Amino acid sequence: MLAELKTEECWTQFLDFISKQCSASEFQNWFAPIKVLELTDQQITLQVPNIFVREYLLDNYRRELSSFMPTDENGNPSIVFKVAEVKKESFVPEQAMIEFPTIDPGNEKFESRLNPSYTFDTFIEGPSNQFVKSAALGVAARPGKSYNPLFIHGGVGLGKTHLLHAIGHTIQGEKKKMRVQCITTEAFINDLVDSLRNKSVDKMKRFYRSLDVLIVDDIQFLQNRLNFEEEFCNTFESLINQSKQVIISSDKPPSQLKLSERLIARMEWGLVAGIGAPDFETRVAILQYKAESRGLRIPDNIAYFIAEHIYDNVRQLEGAINKLSAYCRLMGLDVSLDVVERTLSEMFQVANHNKISVEAILKSVSAMFNVRISDLKGQSRSKEIALPRQVAMYLAKELINESLIKLASSFGGKTHSTLLHSWNKIKKAMQSDEILRRQVQMTKQNLGS
Ligand code: ADP
Ligand code: MG
Repeated sequence: MLAELKTEECWTQFLDFISKQCSASEFQNWFAPIKVLELTDQQITLQVPNIFVREYLLDNYRRELSSFMPTDENGNPSIVFKVAEVKKESFVPEQAMIEFPTIDPGNEKFESRLNPSYTFDTFIEGPSNQFVKSAALGVAARPGKSYNPLFIHGGVGLGKTHLLHAIGHTIQGEKKKMRVQCITTEAFINDLVDSLRNKSVDKMKRFYRSLDVLIVDDIQFLQNRLNFEEEFCNTFESLINQSKQVIISSDKPPSQLKLSERLIARMEWGLVAGIGAPDFETRVAILQYKAESRGLRIPDNIAYFIAEHIYDNVRQLEGAINKLSAYCRLMGLDVSLDVVERTLSEMFQVANHNKISVEAILKSVSAMFNVRISDLKGQSRSKEIALPRQVAMYLAKELINESLIKLASSFGGKTHSTLLHSWNKIKKAMQSDEILRRQVQMTKQNLGS
């Protein structure tokens, strides 16, 4: 009896401790439904509403559990989990699915999930996104019949969400009967958590599996969410097996995501396409377009100036135009270089600060490998010079967003194929050569110092 009391107390103490660590909703979702079934000095038996809760506890609170609960000889919490029996749900007729909040493609709530301004028409094309855009157009024209899944990856603010919504709009507009769902990975997880809590997982599964097109944004948020990943993978397979279209976006290509091999392999089944940062001309075109759509006129030289200083994020370009447009309207001014510098210099400073030039790379390489910059730019093929030169070329391609031709010409007029060859060579060599890898890393760290 005494032992029981002690163990019971340990659970209450654990809850007390945890409630101060996590948010109220997390506590309600995950901890409140757990019941203590059995208590001994050696172990504790917990009743959990579903298997996810077990994973969740062990993934996130193993250390805390070990401190409060009985532990085994390895110091792991000694817990037996029993999943509560779920009363079999009575058969849910088809229309009951409409009760599900995200279900009806016709209702307004659903519509509002697609941003009305994210269409193909408003997406400015350039070399960095041409391929992705044409893949997206292909999928939108023939959902489930061209590339499946379509996996779009790229850095922040480069237009992934825009393209996903554009696909959604096109399909909704042209194939009215198709059930299209566009959802962020967070929302998918939340849906799953909600339906676990409401014991409506079957309904949710049925909903997702009955779609014709599933669009999932920012799949990187599925990393480290083990059981959600499994549920997602099942949904995904079920759709693909029925030739239903799946479109996914992520900040990295599938192979770099920390997800199960099974899911990564599935995501690589179809077409994997990357969006890069736009080149100078595309940035100018985007600026002009965004300005025009806000009724702001900006002279070419000013668009060039902004495009030179903001170069790796379309969202920032858009932000610059918004800021400029608001300022000019409020102050009753026309756009001029003076106004631009006054309103946008903060954004520029950040950009300038991060800007890496070929000169900076040459300087850093020259210091690291003890060779002269003029030699790096010269023609000598001796190994002492050729290797550092290749490293500099490798770093230039990795770190600077410019055409290969332009980069190569900064190395004393080399060709772009020389640059590409060097990049490949160093990339490969670094896989087996630990010293080289460190040297490259340190050169990178010393940039700008
Ligand atoms: P991501 O999802 O890749 O982070 P978004 O799709 O949210 O990026 O894009 C950020 C902003 O930039 C959005 O307002 C989007 O409309 C705009 N944008 C991105 N790429 C383009 C483009 N090529 N043409 C026009 N607008 C773009
Ligand atoms: Mg996005």
